[in-house]
Amino acid sequence: METHSFKYVILGGGVSAGYAAREFVKQGLRPGDLAIISKESVAPYERPALSKGYLFPEGAVDLPGFHVCVGSGGERLLPEWYSEKGIKLILGTEVTKVNIAEKTLTTAAQAVFKYETLIIATGSSVIRLSNQGANAKNIFYLREIEDASELRKAVGANKNGKAVVVGGGYIGLELGAVLRMHNYDVTIVYPEPWFLPRLFTAELAHFYEGHYKHKGVTLIKGTRAVGFESHADGTVKTVKLKDGRELDADIVVVGIGARPLISLFKDQLEEEKGGIKTDGFFKTSEPGVYAIGDVATFPMKMYGDMRRVEHVDHARKSAEQAVKVKSIKENL
Ligand SMILES: Cc1cc2nc3c(=O)[nH]c(=O)nc-3n(C[C@H](O)[C@H](O)[C@H](O)COP(=O)(O)OP(=O)(O)OC[C@H]3O[C@@H](n4cnc5c(N)ncnc54)[C@H](O)[C@@H]3O)c2cc1C
Repeated sequence: METHSFKYVILGGGVSAGYAAREFVKQGLRPGDLAIISKESVAPYERPALSKGYLFPEGAVDLPGFHVCVGSGGERLLPEWYSEKGIKLILGTEVTKVNIAEKTLTTAAQAVFKYETLIIATGSSVIRLSNQGANAKNIFYLREIEDASELRKAVGANKNGKAVVVGGGYIGLELGAVLRMHNYDVTIVYPEPWFLPRLFTAELAHFYEGHYKHKGVTLIKGTRAVGFESHADGTVKTVKLKDGRELDADIVVVGIGARPLISLFKDQLEEEKGGIKTDGFFKTSEPGVYAIGDVATFPMKMYGDMRRVEHVDHARKSAEQAVKVKSIKENL
């Protein structure tokens, strides 16, 4: 069995991993001390670009244009940056087992990584529909660049087609807008009385819903997708709604939320509110283990309680905060 040892390992290669790497270097990281292990095949990038510029019909952005840390106006960390700094970027590698007591990570290919300090930055995975027919081709979810790339190909192949967007959160709204920019006939379906209900008042939502309608997007509220029918070749044909309506679709995109990826640490780290419990420095219940970004449930002073935050700004700042923490910094 292949075994590797690093002083620091970041598990996950998304937004927070990239910002943590930059902060490590600022704090004087020694070459060879840090490894980043990521399931994705590309160096850390600014994930929000996937539902925006990456899908634009004209002037679309692509990698390497949006590697971290351009999203906050910083230096763009290209793959070469990691090798120049002596950071081992291990891509296309999924960690399937974590043993916190033994300080080891095991990958799908059975390689073992030992660490002294672990930074968990596994982010979230999308919630998938399990309704009848939900495995039809051309039903898309969006989390990683591979998903966005497949969606982009399908959008190009079905030009001026019909798109149904399931979900009235920010992903659904962004994808609805971008599909409309591609001249799709777009319908957005959501069960709430207005979109972005956790963020918008009825009045504010009314204003933005008006804007979507003005752009030609159809909004169907107060119901949900309950099933799908396919063509003989397996591609989606119809979306069935709970209220009995049926919508034709060449493409369906689903944005119904995400869940933090914490199952690898079950019964090994304390959890709270669906995330890994940390203190204000993003230290978990186990010494030498930190959790940053989407997976961390941390004390938020402003509200006086523990919160988990799925925002890019939090991913960046929690990463920097964790690396600055004295106990890590002193050991560099
Ligand atoms: C399409 C999209 C648009 C968004 N737009 C916005 C926006 O406009 N504004 C905003 O504030 N937020 C936005 N967000 C949310 C924001 O991107 C996330 O909050 C942020 O990326 C979280 O950073 P993270 O490092 O915790 O997780 P991620 O950036 O998701 O990174 C997690 C990484 O860990 C890897 N990983 C997971 N499990 C394993 C494993 N077992 N082994 C190896 N690797 C693993 C994943 O492959 C991924 O590379 C958006 C999210 C998406 C998906």
